[in-house]
Amino acid sequence: MVYVSTRGQTPPARFRAVLLEGLAPDGGLMVPGRYPRVDAAMLRAWRGLPYAQLACELMSLFADDYPAGELARLTRSVYTAALFGSEQVAPLTDLEPGLKLLQLSNGPTLAFKDLAMQLLGALFQFELSAGAGTLNILGATSGDTGSSAEYAMRGRTGIRVFMLSPYGRMSAFQRAQMYSLNDPNIFNIAVEGTFDDCQDIVKQIGSDVEFKRRHRMGAVNSINWARVAAQVVYYFHGYFAATGDDADRVSFCVPSGNFGNVLAGWIARSMGLPIDRLIVATNENDVLDEFFRTGRYRLRSRRQTVATSSPSMDISKASNFERFVFDLVGRAPDHVRQLWRQLDERGEFDLTATPYWQGAAACGFGSGRSTHADRLATIRSVFHASGRIVDPHTADGIKVARDAGRPGIPMICLETAQPAKFSETIVEAIDQAPPLTHAMSEMLARPQRFEKMPPDAAAIRRYIEARSS
Ligand SMILES: *Cc1c(COP(=O)(O)O)cnc(C)c1O
Repeated sequence: MVYVSTRGQTPPARFRAVLLEGLAPDGGLMVPGRYPRVDAAMLRAWRGLPYAQLACELMSLFADDYPAGELARLTRSVYTAALFGSEQVAPLTDLEPGLKLLQLSNGPTLAFKDLAMQLLGALFQFELSAGAGTLNILGATSGDTGSSAEYAMRGRTGIRVFMLSPYGRMSAFQRAQMYSLNDPNIFNIAVEGTFDDCQDIVKQIGSDVEFKRRHRMGAVNSINWARVAAQVVYYFHGYFAATGDDADRVSFCVPSGNFGNVLAGWIARSMGLPIDRLIVATNENDVLDEFFRTGRYRLRSRRQTVATSSPSMDISKASNFERFVFDLVGRAPDHVRQLWRQLDERGEFDLTATPYWQGAAACGFGSGRSTHADRLATIRSVFHASGRIVDPHTADGIKVARDAGRPGIPMICLETAQPAKFSETIVEAIDQAPPLTHAMSEMLARPQRFEKMPPDAAAIRRYIEARSS
């Protein structure tokens, strides 16, 4: 399997060469030269496999440059009941007639990101043991990505994590998750500014190619290809759990922000998994819902990006969207370059004027938008009907899934986080806090450690320089 850039101006590379990369050198994103295809015999053989084995089968298609047996060993070490709370790793539950919930948030930081990030940690560690020296990870987080990355990398020799978070702007639970870690390889930098400030600083530091090379800086943000590949696994897993036979079809509804999660669904579908439709659920920040309704992709400014009660979906642009558009325009890099030039110049592009867009349904998509009031009403109705408490992001998904459902085809909504992470909104919805496990209470009570710094890229760069290996 070789990877090519969506902008077509980067030499093809294998999986392990793109593993540590964020953007491709030409500004695009690396994607498989062509998607592997699964046929009926493969689906039959994979049905019923334990999660780790299914992950090994799928990752072997995307990453065929590992020594024999290595991916089996790595996936076995990651997808365990000890780390993900059950033998199934990602159990499927019935929510209401026609609607199921795929539980992806039972990992160490209670968000779906753990499923890919934990494997990324193991893959990074393998690179280091294969003689790649040391690795420094620099990232920015508004909450879930940072903790997921830190729990995946903590205690790993040769890896250091420098994570910028906006001081005072995360939920108490997210704060405690990150700042209570005392592993010597984890550096939490609480920036006196917003998430955008954090991201700007990471970009500024990352644009210094020499600094990046000297300190072996790696990226773990949502454009990391290995994360997308690892997410493909649970679409297959969810499909097998929801169906009895490979003639059956299902639809997935995905609470979306940077388009990483649902992109993995698109890839699963492109590989031949019988997915009827992929439904993109957004919150008030509805760049993606607008695109799928109209064919027009219109970036939002910072002022137009609102802080909502499903904060991990508060985006102004969807960083993985370019990979999907690459497929949509027939995998022609010159079209992608032209569209992104328009995006840089005008802040938008419109596909309706091109032959590539016949509407969302034509490419197997649907979409919907959910507001704060919808979120509260959904959390309440699910709780009253089933006693189950769902987190605000998952509630956005359920709201949109209910509107988009079609008789005869099961709809699987992805559960992207546990409610305990966002208890303020849960209390607002149902007047009671989500229950905390013993481990969660303990975590909340632990002392917190972080470095508070002004939004000054030069100072943060010096801080990293002094501590990186
Ligand atoms: C990251 C995240 C999302 C958005 O996922 P994308 O891959 O960015 O679309 C949704 N819900 C939760 C809880 C998240 O942490």
